[in-house]
Amino acid sequence: MKIYNLTGYLIILSYVLACMYFAPAHLGPWNGILIGGVYFIFCWFLGGLYLADVLHLGIAHRSLDYKEWFIKAVTIVNNVFGLYVDPIAWVNRHRLHHLHADHLGDPNKLSDDGFWRTLYLCLMPYQCQENLAGDRILRSRTFRVAANPIFAILAQAFSFYLLWKLVGGLKFALAMWIGIRIFAAWVNMVQNYWTHTRQFGYRRYDDEQDNAMNIGEWLPVTATFSACLQNNHHHYPRLLRLSHDKSEYDFGFITVKFMKLLGLVKATKKGAELPEDVPLGALEF
Ligand SMILES: [Zn+2]
Repeated sequence: MKIYNLTGYLIILSYVLACMYFAPAHLGPWNGILIGGVYFIFCWFLGGLYLADVLHLGIAHRSLDYKEWFIKAVTIVNNVFGLYVDPIAWVNRHRLHHLHADHLGDPNKLSDDGFWRTLYLCLMPYQCQENLAGDRILRSRTFRVAANPIFAILAQAFSFYLLWKLVGGLKFALAMWIGIRIFAAWVNMVQNYWTHTRQFGYRRYDDEQDNAMNIGEWLPVTATFSACLQNNHHHYPRLLRLSHDKSEYDFGFITVKFMKLLGLVKATKKGAELPEDVPLGALEF
């Protein structure tokens, strides 16, 4: 088994065991797993929707055109109840990452940065040298509030308190709280380290200027909402889907298609342009 898959499965297993062990007596271990599972899936799904679908394809690349109220609702709900990520800083870092991928100016990782250095950079990225996040929606009150550090602290403290009171055990709440954040760090490492280091994954496009790789197994694709298909994505960053072949499993695209069905999103002109050398035949959106 590949090291990134093994690490991911071990984190999930440890999370399940911690939920069993720390579940308060009135709940018992099986209810502990059930509640822990619900919290895990809630945070993962909301986080994927927020980062991969909305911030990434909706704002950073403008491949998808979401209803504005939906973007704002996802931003607030995720940052209050799920895993906090500053939306303005994220969009800026992501655009700089594409502009300077794996080179000086990429806030995520430089070509020679190893595993531990990149893990540290997930928490403390390189200083951004430019501001590429001047979009109208990012200047809206909702986004300015969501990007405020005081909001971040209050929102996360509130949701921890809520979780603690709901499950009735401090240690149990802490185990879930910390556990899901360790999983999120792994998701971050799949995108920043394993899919930007040439010895992992595969390449469809032989782009010399970056180290972006595709990782296509079930767990990383599902966990990252397909953001681990980095070689495809760096080659055609505006395209609204990250899989470039029917054989590539694409969980993120399934979620976007479902939101389209609900009338929440449509393609932008650039997002729907299918380049000729992408072997899909049709966009299927
Ligand atoms: Zn991107």
